[in-house]
Amino acid sequence: MLYWDYAAATPPYEEVVQTMEQIMKLHYANPSSLHRAGVEAGKLIRRSREVCAAALAVKPEELLFTSGATESNNLAIKGAALQYEGRGRHIVTTEMEHPSVYESCLQLQKRGWEISFIKPERTGIVDPDRVAAAVRRDTVLVSVMHVNNEVGTIQPLREIGNLIKSLNSRVLFHVDGVQGYGKLSVSLKEWKADLYSLSPHKIRGPRGVGLLYVKEGVMLSPLLTGGSHEDGLRAGTENVPAIVAAAKAVRMSGEQREAFADRLTPLRDRLLHFLRGIPEFLLNSNEDGAPHIVHFSYPGMKGEVMARKLEELGMAVSTQSACSSLLAEPSRVLLSMSRDVSAASGGIRISLGDIHTEADVTALEQAIMTAVQALKIVEGGMK
Ligand code: PLP
Repeated sequence: MLYWDYAAATPPYEEVVQTMEQIMKLHYANPSSLHRAGVEAGKLIRRSREVCAAALAVKPEELLFTSGATESNNLAIKGAALQYEGRGRHIVTTEMEHPSVYESCLQLQKRGWEISFIKPERTGIVDPDRVAAAVRRDTVLVSVMHVNNEVGTIQPLREIGNLIKSLNSRVLFHVDGVQGYGKLSVSLKEWKADLYSLSPHKIRGPRGVGLLYVKEGVMLSPLLTGGSHEDGLRAGTENVPAIVAAAKAVRMSGEQREAFADRLTPLRDRLLHFLRGIPEFLLNSNEDGAPHIVHFSYPGMKGEVMARKLEELGMAVSTQSACSSLLAEPSRVLLSMSRDVSAASGGIRISLGDIHTEADVTALEQAIMTAVQALKIVEGGMK
C-alpha cells in the first residue's frame, strides 16, 4: 500500500520512536515531583521547550505543551474569549478553518458571541481586505489558518496581521499553523501573530502532544484547571516522552523544510499536470499552494467511491480531511470555495511526504487512470 495521507498523519522519524521508548523507560517520574528523578524529567521538558522556541524564534516562556492542535486551537479561541470578554464579544474567522477552530467559534456563537465567518475566494484564498472589513472595535480575536488542510491553499497572513492590527491594535491574531510548519517558512513576528498552534504528529512526531505559542503579555483563561502545570494554563501531568519527541520532530522538520519543499514541489506539480489532463476532474489546488497537498473533485462521483477504488489498487488517499471524512457530507471547505454540492461531495485529497519518489507518482497516476476507467468515469479523451 502506498500512503498518500501525510496531511492526516505522518510516520514518526526513527529518532522520535527511539526517544519515546527511551524516555518512557528511563524518565517515568512525574516532572512535578521534588526528588531527583522528577527534577530530571522537569529538565527534559524545559530543554524541549527551548528547542521548540528556537525553531519558532520565540521565547521558551511563550510556548506551552497541550495534547494536540485541537486542544491548542480550543484554548487559543475559547481561552482568549473568556479572558477578554470585557473588550467585546466578537470574533473573526473564515469559513474554511479546521473543525477545531470552526466548532469552537460555533460553540461561542451559541453562547451569544458574534462570529464573522469570512468566505474565501474561489481559489481558496482569503482576501485580507474582507477580513479587515469585518474587524470592529469590540473584536477580541481573528483566527486564520496558515495552510488549509483540505486543499492546501496558503493564506496571506502577513497582510492580514498587519491590516487587522492597524485597525485595532488590541485585537489578537491566532494562526492555526498545523499544515504549514515544516513545509513553508513561518514568521510569527512578520504575521504579528499572538497565538499559534502546532501539531507534532503532522511533522513526523508523536501524537498526544501539541504546541501553543502565546505571545508575552497575552493572557488566556485556562480550559483545563487543576495543578499549576504549563504556567497554570494547562493542568495535567505532562506527557514527557511525547514532549521530548515532539521537540525532536519540530527541530528536524524545521531543519529539513527547504529540502522537503524542493523535493515535493516537482512531484506535486507533476501530479497537478496529470490531473488537469482528465477533463472530468475539477482541481481545487494549484502550484501556488503548499507543496504537500493536491486536491481534486470528480463532480457526480462520491469521493468515498473513488477513494475505495484507489485503495483496492494499493493507494491510500483521503476524501476530505481525516477529521471530517466520517461525516459523508459535502465538504464545508469546498462549499466555502463556491463549489456546488456535487463537486463538494466528490473531493479527493492526495498528500505527499518525504518518502515519495517519481516512481510512486507514476504508480499513483496509473492507479488513478485504472480507477477512472473501472468506474467508467471517463468516456473518452484519455489514452
Ligand atoms: N488544524 C489543522 C489545520 C489540521 O489539519 C489538524 C489536523 O488534522 C488540526 C488542526 C488538529 O490537530 P490534532 O490532530 O493535533 O488535534
